[in-house]
Amino acid sequence: VERTLAVIKPDAVHHADEIEDIITQNGFSVLQKRKVQLTPEQASELYSEHFGKMFFPSLITYMSSGPIVALVIAKDKAISSWRELIGPTNALIAKQSHPDSLRAKYGTDDQQNALHGSDSFTSAEKEIRFFFPDSIVE
Ligand code: ATP
Repeated sequence: VERTLAVIKPDAVHHADEIEDIITQNGFSVLQKRKVQLTPEQASELYSEHFGKMFFPSLITYMSSGPIVALVIAKDKAISSWRELIGPTNALIAKQSHPDSLRAKYGTDDQQNALHGSDSFTSAEKEIRFFFPDSIVE
């Protein structure tokens, strides 16, 4: 069993209960959950890999604009399986090519895309530690 970090972003938080139901219906177990509002500094730390890009300032404004829900979810191949369920980064493309994906359903465009999923084992562990610093790493 693998774990990954799922984030329900500010634009989708009002659908958090519905999204959590979809998560469990897809065979994930929810190990931990936290609702938090990131400061711009915390959002910059989370997205430090994008520092310097044109969209960085608006990404930070968006991600710190309201509460988000961070969930540690687990199942076999959780990382790839969750990214498949959320769909392409750009919600406009998701609506065209992956209409059943969660970004197609809850997202708006290339920035306001409703959901996040860690892209590798290393980033999953790092992002889980970011949101759940006192979680026990087995
Ligand atoms: P996430 O990290 O949320 O899973 P991702 O890994 O699919 O998304 P990244 O390329 O890491 O995408 O970008 C991180 C986030 O930055 C995206 O989810 C989106 O909100 C925003 N973003 C990415 N590309 C753009 C862009 N070209 N214009 C505006 N915002 C963008």
